[in-house]
Amino acid sequence: MSTYILWDIDGTLIYNTPSAGALYLDSIEQVTGVRPTEPVKDPHGMTEGQLLLAILEVNGLDQGRLGDVLYQLDVLSREQHERGHVRDACIGAQAAIAAVAEGGWTNALLTGNGPNRARYKLLAAGFDPEDFDWEHSYFGHESPTRHHLTAGARSALAGHDAVIIGDTPNDGLAADSAGIPFIAVATGIYSADQLLPTSALVVVDDLESGLPAVLRAIETAATPAAEDPGLEEFGENPDVELSAAE
Ligand SMILES: [Mg+2]
Repeated sequence: MSTYILWDIDGTLIYNTPSAGALYLDSIEQVTGVRPTEPVKDPHGMTEGQLLLAILEVNGLDQGRLGDVLYQLDVLSREQHERGHVRDACIGAQAAIAAVAEGGWTNALLTGNGPNRARYKLLAAGFDPEDFDWEHSYFGHESPTRHHLTAGARSALAGHDAVIIGDTPNDGLAADSAGIPFIAVATGIYSADQLLPTSALVVVDDLESGLPAVLRAIETAATPAAEDPGLEEFGENPDVELSAAE
């Protein structure tokens, strides 16, 4: 049994930028020929797939083009990366990743971005993508909601512990619906006060001043292997083993 620390990217590991949405508009314009002008209300914490669908919808554009828009978004992200685009890592994020690994836990991603975009963003902010377990990372570019994303992560990690670290109340709600403990960090658009009403085990201002509290919360949330046998203890075929034990 492992403990996976599932990091959100935007606002958690990397500061949001006001221009971040431009790539969405560019992708949609290049696919549909129309540049969206109508904004989406309350986009923070939406998955990329959810946000793109919402932009298409409120602008009266064909939602059936989502696949093409996502493809175009990957193309534009790669081009942006190749132009040497730089992003800012959130304060303390690099050290937090290192501390999690030192604690014997596994760093992974749970993000509304697709895997290509996630990799480019991490590289642009100076993270080493190899510090994350990509086999046990979950990407929401095709998820209709963040709940869909966390439910998929929960079932993929059956028998393991997981903790989600994110920056929006939506991250907390999605963690709750999947039964995954949540830790909140206020480096996105939400203040610590706004994140306090979530289910977060702890709310920290940032990953530098808040690192000790984050590590304590992970320790508390991670069930020692001996106390929770999980499905893995029953081998490849849990039904057979379980009925034999009855
Ligand atoms: Mg976020």
